[in-house]
Amino acid sequence: MELVTLRDILPKAKKEYYAVGAFNFNGYEDAEGIQMGAERAASPVILMASQGACQYIGLYETVGIVKGIAKHSKVPVCLHLDHATDCDFIKEAVKAGFSSVMVDASAKEYETNIRESKAVVDFARDYNCSVEAELGKVGGKEDNIVVEDRSATFTVPADVPRYVDETGIDALAIAFGSVHGFYKSEPKLDFDRLAAVLKLTDCPIVLHGGTGIPIADIQRCIGMGLAKVNVGTELKAAFSNTLRKMCKELPAEEFDPRKFLKPVKEAVSLIVKEKLEAFGSAGKAADKA
Ligand SMILES: [Zn+2]
Repeated sequence: MELVTLRDILPKAKKEYYAVGAFNFNGYEDAEGIQMGAERAASPVILMASQGACQYIGLYETVGIVKGIAKHSKVPVCLHLDHATDCDFIKEAVKAGFSSVMVDASAKEYETNIRESKAVVDFARDYNCSVEAELGKVGGKEDNIVVEDRSATFTVPADVPRYVDETGIDALAIAFGSVHGFYKSEPKLDFDRLAAVLKLTDCPIVLHGGTGIPIADIQRCIGMGLAKVNVGTELKAAFSNTLRKMCKELPAEEFDPRKFLKPVKEAVSLIVKEKLEAFGSAGKAADKA
């Protein structure tokens, strides 16, 4: 299968009140684990690489891994660039073959955010690549982007319609109480703010920082019309904890890397399958819009 864009999977999800899971990977094993989980759930899936992950794996290697995975996949696979702030890097990623990108100009002032996000949309359109952008600031830490928890600002619903119209984006990340990474205290989502945004736009809305939010809260958002949920930290933890466990369990004379890494893939796959079932997208693989 060819890679799909957010346009192929999110409008349908929004209409039918389920969300597509978007999962961060940092190498071949977790990328493969994510796809395995999606196939087990018969769900479409979004594989996300951050700018940092692309630099670690190599940009063309990142595209190569996911195109290879998608080729034999029974479920739609989207390759999405997560939280990129550098427009030149975004253009390189689009040209390299990403089917979707996120331009994060959320730290900039409103008009600049519109201008930069629109420029990415204009460029990506020629490559049939979808674009997600962010309005408001999701707190926490994601690669080199750090937002102070306290100064994290929520999205102003009234800012949304003009932002979506003028940029022409395919998905919008909003800030309404989630943060990146593990939560230091119980997260409190501002459901009223989400409802207000959903009332003002048809653009599919994205929740960042899906790790650690009670699943019932995420399901409540999905029931309101949330269409994409990002999960990163939880997979990183599963990867590292499983690898640590294998290092302890396997005998000292074991040296086949596959013995260490196959259980890692399996652990990632299980979490992904569980999430997709919880997000309601299990069984929706054939539902390409
Ligand atoms: Zn994020």
